[in-house]
Amino acid sequence: GRGTASDAAAAAGDVKAHFVFIPLMAQGHLIPALDTALLLATHGALASIVVTPSDTGRVRPAVDFARKSGLPARLVELAAEGLPDGAGDFRVMARLREPLERHLREHAPFPTCVVADFCHPWARELAASLGVPWLCFFSMCAFCLLCQHNVERFGSYGGVADDHELVVVPGLERKVEVSRAQAPGFFRGIPGFEKFADEVEQVLTEADGIVTNSFLEMEPEFVAGYAEARRMKVWTVGPVSLFHQRTATLASRGNTAAIDADECLRWLDGQEPGSVVYVSFGSIAHAEAKQVVELGLALEASGHPFIWAVKNAGEDDVAGFLRELEARVAGRGLLIRGWAPQVLILSHAAVGGFVTHCGWNSTVEAIAAGLPVVVWPHFADQFLNAKFAVEVLGVGVDVGVKEPVMYRLDRKEIVVGREVVEGAVRSIMDGGDEGEERRRRARALAAKARAAVEEGGSSHGNLVDLVKNFEFKIGAIA
Ligand code: UDP
Repeated sequence: GRGTASDAAAAAGDVKAHFVFIPLMAQGHLIPALDTALLLATHGALASIVVTPSDTGRVRPAVDFARKSGLPARLVELAAEGLPDGAGDFRVMARLREPLERHLREHAPFPTCVVADFCHPWARELAASLGVPWLCFFSMCAFCLLCQHNVERFGSYGGVADDHELVVVPGLERKVEVSRAQAPGFFRGIPGFEKFADEVEQVLTEADGIVTNSFLEMEPEFVAGYAEARRMKVWTVGPVSLFHQRTATLASRGNTAAIDADECLRWLDGQEPGSVVYVSFGSIAHAEAKQVVELGLALEASGHPFIWAVKNAGEDDVAGFLRELEARVAGRGLLIRGWAPQVLILSHAAVGGFVTHCGWNSTVEAIAAGLPVVVWPHFADQFLNAKFAVEVLGVGVDVGVKEPVMYRLDRKEIVVGREVVEGAVRSIMDGGDEGEERRRRARALAAKARAAVEEGGSSHGNLVDLVKNFEFKIGAIA
């Protein structure tokens, strides 16, 4: 609604700073950006969140909830030609530059900082035209950012003919090997995106800093290494999902869930602590019918209770299989056909492990919940995140996928067989010394994550620091 206490606060000049967030309209980018914006609002900054009409519905409930609790947050809904249908190429978002600048000039208070997703290089010009600093937003770990940066900076793939040949990431103390197939770099190797990839890289060198959904204690050497390599400040503010533990907005994060939150909680309440495995491949990755079958049979054979979020459950060649499976595992297996209230599930005591595609948000949500993971990367930064979970943090078991399946670009059939999946699920869920060690490390990390977001913690401190760094200059408030 209009004219709430939060508007009044902003108008009266009670806010300390004004951050304009320009997220990418894809859940893996939008969710953490919104969380970060609202976190800054809890520290006294006005947060304006830019959204296109087709995506307003995903954001409005959380923003309304925040405003009702008195947080200074605003939605800036803007349309432009080619938008709003969201299904199109996200690069058309650049058309929002002018209408957004006009909007910001017309609505006090004047921004003090633009925070834009790294996929919006046009934000640099917007910020320059407004005469305010801009920060680049990532929901990625510094390990991933630094590996990609160093491979790009030192041209590690130059002269490497085979996409699968492993090269050692230069400039790290630890030996990390990557291949071009698994870690090509932002937008590299995607036909039609070559120029855009260069632009993203170029513009990033001019950012006034980086904000990312990670936390210092998880990867201090990589946060420091990345800041040094970029020669810019890196504010780690995560895990931003932990924000919701405090505001009871867990269940409405992202899309409207395909299951009633209470029903989901009741089901979880009926299971033994640490017994349930949660399975999801995020908001984009699409499993082929054959893979759905292998995965389903593996979950059945594992003997563990499970919650499985299946996105393509309605497809003809999948629907029948799922119905039969559901009947066989009644009481033990819960299928969610569509959007799952993921953080609600992960933070329930009954959950003991997570089979994930290693989108960074899912990975850091698992870390925040203290869960071991089966890593099953599909594309983009997921292979590096998987490596990080297994090799650096020691909380993951690799299902063994070596090659990316690129969303929409090819439909390569890479099917992981049921025995392999079952084995991986058993290793994170069953006891044994190795399993216990992994679980112990996961719990220790979660404790560090919680400490980071609490008063006195590193992420909490970075949020305070951000507001302080970008606060209104004395006398500048209109
Ligand atoms: N998510 C969710 N329910 C779903 C699928 C995804 O809540 O059914 C959330 C998940 O918690 C995470 C985000 O959507 O915050 C997905 O981001 P991630 O980086 O894990 O993967 P992507 O979807 O970008 O591949």
